[in-house]
Amino acid sequence: MLRSLPLAVFAAVLTLAPEPTAQRGQLDRVAIVPQHVAGNVHMLMGAGGNIGVSVGADGVLMVDDQFTQMAPKIRSAIEAIEATRTGDSTESSGKIRILVNTHMHGDHTGGNADFADEALIFAHANVRMRMQSENQPPLMLPVVTFTDSIDLHFNGETVRVIHLPGGHTDGDSYIWFRAANVAHLGDHFFSGKFPYVDVARGGSAMGLRDNIGRLLQEFPDDTQIIPGHGPLSTVDDLRKYHEMLTETIEYVRAGLAAGKTPDDMRRAGFDEKWASWGTGFINAEGWMQIIVDSFGAEDHN
Ligand SMILES: [Zn+2]
Repeated sequence: MLRSLPLAVFAAVLTLAPEPTAQRGQLDRVAIVPQHVAGNVHMLMGAGGNIGVSVGADGVLMVDDQFTQMAPKIRSAIEAIEATRTGDSTESSGKIRILVNTHMHGDHTGGNADFADEALIFAHANVRMRMQSENQPPLMLPVVTFTDSIDLHFNGETVRVIHLPGGHTDGDSYIWFRAANVAHLGDHFFSGKFPYVDVARGGSAMGLRDNIGRLLQEFPDDTQIIPGHGPLSTVDDLRKYHEMLTETIEYVRAGLAAGKTPDDMRRAGFDEKWASWGTGFINAEGWMQIIVDSFGAEDHN
C-alpha cells in the first residue's frame, strides 16, 4: 500500500534480464570506459553496475559483468588493457579465469552465462540460492559458493571476498584487492546518492548502514573504492555516505517513534542538505520508503 510504483519498477529492472528488443538498441550505444585504479586493478564503467578487473600474468579476475549485451564490449576493453600490460605473459594472460558476483541483481550478473565457459563464477551462497529459486538458467549460476569469506590468490596479491550480511540484499560481498588496496563494494555503495535496498531479498537499510560502518573501521584512509554505481571514490566519500545513511535512518526512526505516518514524513522530506543525494536512481521519496520497509521487515522478524 505504501510501496511507490517507481521503486517496484526499479526492482524489476534490476532483477530481470533486460527485455531484448526494447533495450538492445539502448545498450548498443553504451561504451565501456576503462580507468586504471592501482596495481593490476582497473574499473570498467558501462551500463549497470561498475566492473572491477585484475589483469596480470595469471589472467583476469573480474568482479561483476553488467548485461549479456555488454559482454563483447567488456571483452574488448579487457583485451585492450592486456595489450598495454608490461610484465610476464603466460598461456593464461588475457583469459577471464575468475568471475566474482557481488550480489544477484541482473545489472551485475547479466553476463554470467557469456563468461561461464572460461571463468569459474564465485559468489555468496545466497546469490546462487536466489538465482536458482528465480529460475535463472544453470549457466548463469555461481559455481563456487561460500558463507563468510574466501581468499583468492591471483596476479601476485590476495583478493579477499567477504560477505556483508543483510545489507543491499542478503547475499552481498565486497572484494578487497589487498596489495593494490582497492575495494569493490558492489551495491552497498551508491557514491553520492541514496542507495537501492532490496528488502524483499533480505536487504535492510539499517543492515547496510552497519556494514558500511564496519568497513570504515577496516579500511585505511587511502583505500580506493569502486562503488556499485557512481565514480571511483575515496574513504572520505564513503564516510559522507555513512553519515547520510545514519542521519536519514535516524530521522525516519524518530518520526515513526513519535507516531508520524510515512505520508507525514514524505511530505516533510529529508533535511535540505541531502537534496543532491536524491538525484540518482532513488529519489528522497524512494529512499524514505526503503527505510520504512526496512523497519517493517525488522518488526516481522
Ligand atoms: Zn543491486
